[in-house]
Amino acid sequence: MKTSKQCRSCIRSASCQCTKFGHLDEDVLFLMFQNLNWNPKLIATMSCVCKWFNEFSKRVLWKEVCRARAPRVARDLQSRGSQTIDVEWRALGKLLVYCTGSSKDGLFKGVETPGHFVHKSRFIKASGKYFLPPKCKTDVLYVSRTCRHLDDGTEEMGTIGWDPGDMGFFRGVFKSFSTSKVRKMLIEKGAPFHPTEVCPYCEAKLWSIGEAEMIPETASISLDAHEHGVEYYVCLNGHMIGACTLWYILESESEYEYD
Ligand SMILES: [Zn+2]
Ligand SMILES: [Zn+2]
Repeated sequence: MKTSKQCRSCIRSASCQCTKFGHLDEDVLFLMFQNLNWNPKLIATMSCVCKWFNEFSKRVLWKEVCRARAPRVARDLQSRGSQTIDVEWRALGKLLVYCTGSSKDGLFKGVETPGHFVHKSRFIKASGKYFLPPKCKTDVLYVSRTCRHLDDGTEEMGTIGWDPGDMGFFRGVFKSFSTSKVRKMLIEKGAPFHPTEVCPYCEAKLWSIGEAEMIPETASISLDAHEHGVEYYVCLNGHMIGACTLWYILESESEYEYD
């Protein structure tokens, strides 16, 4: 049992700012979060206030978030033949549960709509044939269901460089991105990184697939989006962040469920 004196500074990490409470054992925390169904919001919040917890969550809890939210994706990304590959679980966990939206001066210029947690993580295995040039069609990526952000008629959305209409946001992750054909093609083309923005999930540099002219027409069809109204970025770790302008839906079809 820790005394209050011991708890004034973190005994597990010299840099920890956690000065009020001692830390629970990892086993206890594991069981607590298992009971909380690996609540990602709580994990993210607690990671911000305690460095030791942040390290523990990166090593243990985010992996469980991924396994619980998207077991098939987690299993597939971790395997290559008989080998097991290290996955950055925290970045993947955030990607599974958080739709980034867009800030006015961010990746999708002129589009301003807040990010949000999603209740369910729905990802489909989309081979490169829908989202990538024919040469890359054997690449494997998982793409979320499109998250519709309603155009409320304000000027922020659908005015600069985007067709008017509801915006759809999607996110995804490549399997084995380091050996993917799309990465090879981006390097061969000498595609530049985005000058200022980084991946919202892992903070790595981003390539614009649109600027590299590598988005096929099938992407807009697959997303039910306007032609030429699709843009997406891929980071050095294979995370995908995309937006598109969607066709308006008829009143009778308007029951749309967020992820
Ligand atoms: Zn969204
Ligand atoms: Zn990333």
